[in-house]
Amino acid sequence: MIGIIGFPYDQNSSYLAGAAEAPPAIRAALRCESSNMSSESGLDLGLSSTLFDAGDCKIVDFRSDIESAVRGLLEQNLTPISLGGDHSITYPILRAFHQKFPRLAVLHVDAHPDLYADFEGNPYSHASPFARVMEEGLIQRLVQIGIRTINSHQRDQAKKYGVEVHEMKDWNDRTRFEFDQPVYFSIDMDGLDPAFAPGVAHPEPGGLTTRQVIQVIQQTKAKIVGADIVELNPRRDVNGITAMVCAKLLKELAARILT
Ligand code: MN
Ligand code: MN
Repeated sequence: MIGIIGFPYDQNSSYLAGAAEAPPAIRAALRCESSNMSSESGLDLGLSSTLFDAGDCKIVDFRSDIESAVRGLLEQNLTPISLGGDHSITYPILRAFHQKFPRLAVLHVDAHPDLYADFEGNPYSHASPFARVMEEGLIQRLVQIGIRTINSHQRDQAKKYGVEVHEMKDWNDRTRFEFDQPVYFSIDMDGLDPAFAPGVAHPEPGGLTTRQVIQVIQQTKAKIVGADIVELNPRRDVNGITAMVCAKLLKELAARILT
């Protein structure tokens, strides 16, 4: 069973607030009567046996509160899908995952590598979670797709930590990703092109289509053991379209996990 949890937190955003308002927007899109609760593979996520909603986490200390909330879901044998929040939440989430899945790999969808040693003096910035994850050895493999803002510092960081960066300029629709360890999907909504997902703080043209991200979810050869969907900023959204994309990706992730 999937355990949905919201992290209404944007204190580590470097540019705009608003991502803290995302979890209720994604839940509303998921339940919106304009669509149904079926995945494309035909799994009915409206059944009470598929999704458990743990609600939103009350966050005082972001690292310990998020880590312990996710650990609690894992201890109940739920598969956590976390709703951000800014991308800084992925570091404490992966601290919890590391205890249960020491061989974990991450497939990271993002316009940005999020590998800054620190960003404007903040080591926990939403621009830095994967630097923390890699230096602590929390995962065995990091594969990034959608990347189109890499600078020389982050290129050095990717090299230092052995990150597999698939830059958008080299994107090939026929690439199939394959993992022989359990995989966690971390989806920053700005990995998609702003034409498909305008409701983000850092819209970066030239990104993935909604269909390309769905194809990666459906076709990656791996056992998926958890996911997060982060960086939706409802204040920047247009007609709730980005929230609806989040709900769609949530359904496709859940279907991959449960079937
Ligand atoms: Mn990110
Ligand atoms: Mn990003």
